[in-house]
Amino acid sequence: MQRTTVIDGAAHAAALRRRAAEVAADLRSKTGTAPGLATVLVGDHPASQVYVRAKGRACAGSQLSAFDIRLPGDISEASLAAEIEQLNRDDRIDGVLVQLPLPRHIEPHRILGAIDPARDVDGFHPVNVGRLWSGLPTMIPCTPQGCIRLLRTVHADLAGLGTVVIGRSNIVGKPLVALLLQADCTVTVVHSKTRDAGEICRGADIVIAAAGQPGMVNGNWIKPGATVLDVGINPMPNSEGRGRVVGDVDFHSVSQVAGAITPVPGGVGPMTIACLLLNTLLAACRRRGIADPAF
Ligand code: NAD
Repeated sequence: MQRTTVIDGAAHAAALRRRAAEVAADLRSKTGTAPGLATVLVGDHPASQVYVRAKGRACAGSQLSAFDIRLPGDISEASLAAEIEQLNRDDRIDGVLVQLPLPRHIEPHRILGAIDPARDVDGFHPVNVGRLWSGLPTMIPCTPQGCIRLLRTVHADLAGLGTVVIGRSNIVGKPLVALLLQADCTVTVVHSKTRDAGEICRGADIVIAAAGQPGMVNGNWIKPGATVLDVGINPMPNSEGRGRVVGDVDFHSVSQVAGAITPVPGGVGPMTIACLLLNTLLAACRRRGIADPAF
């Protein structure tokens, strides 16, 4: 039986958060103010509340100031855009993040486009998306950035590795493809209309699952020794309405075959939040004309 390396995303993320704390302290001593992240939560989506709280806690743990902006679910698009304009002009705030999803009556593209690209720590503003695809300095979206950082803990060189990305969302799949191409991987995208996803995955050196489909990737899909990253976070409520989260990968069967695998929880998820801190610090440095710190 193949011995699998379980990639400890929580430990890698903790190391990044420690480094973020050093950079934040350095910035504070140079400028007199802590770098600041504003999170904007519209409405009371339960999972979004959990994510926003976790981001605030991570800021506090790494010496960044957190500004927790809560707005009613029936706010108009124009009023929300005006709130963002105000954050764009607030000198204490280096990063602005609008928690998705937004209520149905609000067009996310218009709201994401209202964020100052220099403060767009999620990297979803069209200017930053264009810069990413052009290979220019930008804000790299947090989850894809976390995936690349984890891959580099296993593969010193990604060049030429056959990589399948399952999912093509603007948040995960598409930016991940851009980053993997920059790293010289040979990339294939599997999505909801793909025929025989399993056959495509079986030929890959790396499989990254970001489909939001619990356990869709099983051991039969994986080439022996391949690396598997599981981005999926799928809540599985039990009869009391609580319960655990599972990924898109069937950990039990895949770990019998894969060379390396991320668990859920404790894999990609903690890296996403750590990368958000890094992006906020990058924004803070760039806004003050300070060279990008090494992370
Ligand atoms: P999304 O719903 O926007 O996109 C899902 C993508 O998967 C789509 O492009 C779709 O074409 C594809 N897809 C859906 N069903 C498929 C199937 N059966 N076969 C192949 N492809 C299929 O979701 P998202 O925002 O990209 O998130 C994906 C998953 O990642 C979710 O579980 C989400 O909770 C999780 N997520 C985790 C993190 C993290 O930090 N770990 C961050 C963001 C999202």
